[in-house]
Amino acid sequence: MTPSLSADLTGPVAPVLRERGQREVFCGLTGIVWLHRKIQDAFFLVVGSRTCAHLLQSAAGVMIFAEPRFATAIIDDRDLSGLADANAELDRMVEQLLARRPDIKLLFLVGSCPSEVIKLDLSRAAMRLSQRFAPSVRILNYSGSGIETTFTQGEDACLAALVPLLPKSDAPALLVVGALADAVEDQLRRSLAALGIAQVHVLPSRSAMELPPVGSGTRYLLAQPFLADTARALEGRGARRIPAPFPLGAEGTQLWLRAAAQAFGANMATVRAATALQAERAAAALARIRPALEGKRVFFFPDSQLEVPLARFLHREMGMQLVEVGTPYLHQQHLAEELALLPADTRLSEGQDVERQLDRCRAERPDLVVCGLGLANPLEAEGLATKWSIELVFTPIQGFEQATDLANLFVRPLDRRTRLRV
Ligand code: SF4
Repeated sequence: MTPSLSADLTGPVAPVLRERGQREVFCGLTGIVWLHRKIQDAFFLVVGSRTCAHLLQSAAGVMIFAEPRFATAIIDDRDLSGLADANAELDRMVEQLLARRPDIKLLFLVGSCPSEVIKLDLSRAAMRLSQRFAPSVRILNYSGSGIETTFTQGEDACLAALVPLLPKSDAPALLVVGALADAVEDQLRRSLAALGIAQVHVLPSRSAMELPPVGSGTRYLLAQPFLADTARALEGRGARRIPAPFPLGAEGTQLWLRAAAQAFGANMATVRAATALQAERAAAALARIRPALEGKRVFFFPDSQLEVPLARFLHREMGMQLVEVGTPYLHQQHLAEELALLPADTRLSEGQDVERQLDRCRAERPDLVVCGLGLANPLEAEGLATKWSIELVFTPIQGFEQATDLANLFVRPLDRRTRLRV
């Protein structure tokens, strides 16, 4: 497949290399790993194969003490060959699950490659089952299939499915959108309160029973860069986006908070007073780590859609050189503030043609490669230091207090390689 060049960017950056070849990324089921921890009364029932079950078990680990809040309804050979009525089996499974687990208030039926192959209509199944189990349990569906989604798009599909359930309110309020670790969410809420923003809601909420309201008074602020469908659904409910970079690093967090404050009419003196101390402390801590990264060359393979904000952080706050910044999708509007902060000659690539990208990476011999698990081992064997992009999604990295943890995630693989060489 021949890559195409196009120059339709709004920011002062070079043209984007667009590739549509073979890709090496996880599917959207991976999102269940963090979403089941976040929405504490929800359950994720994947309608999939043994492969899907293995992926979830190995990514999320086995819970020994707690009842798990995800499972896989296995589609077997009889379903695939059309011998069994998959809808009837699914209904029976859901009935058993809800009888055994009265704590479940929200059930997601999550589609997979096999459910798509047999054309199992999970939206109809969700409607049918909702009629039966409402109002005590809400049943929704979304797709985490590797045919339709990459890695973090599972969260986008899940949150977009929740939007129609949000209660309506046109009162002025800020809605922070994107799953964050609870401790990070609490810190950012405190910072937003210090800016004088009285009404702050979060999507996803920790409980399915306390969904945030939305309406024409809602201004929403993305905490994650991979939520295009959710954003569209919120705008369909009257909410308006606050343009901002993402809260990664001291600079990103300060600009993110400042954008929220401006949208709610806070004056800049209040903003400075509320954020200066934390921002200075984070910047000073980052300055101590900077020598380990400064001048080093980093190459991003597309994986999580966090690549552009991470590249901005590594370049501007840690002094790294950007060899290539690959991302599965480049959302021009949501990333406009980030793109404007990148050097004008940054090589951006969208999508993937993995062999071509590997060739470019090998030719450049960067100091650090950020990539998915599947590429990391072969690249390490070729002498390149790698960082697994999945760790950047599983680790709390947003906000002032996490800025040094974020930087250290990139220091560690370089450190390890230096020690191996000694
Ligand atoms: S949804 Fe598809 S890509 Fe994901 S684990 Fe299941 S079979 Fe594999």
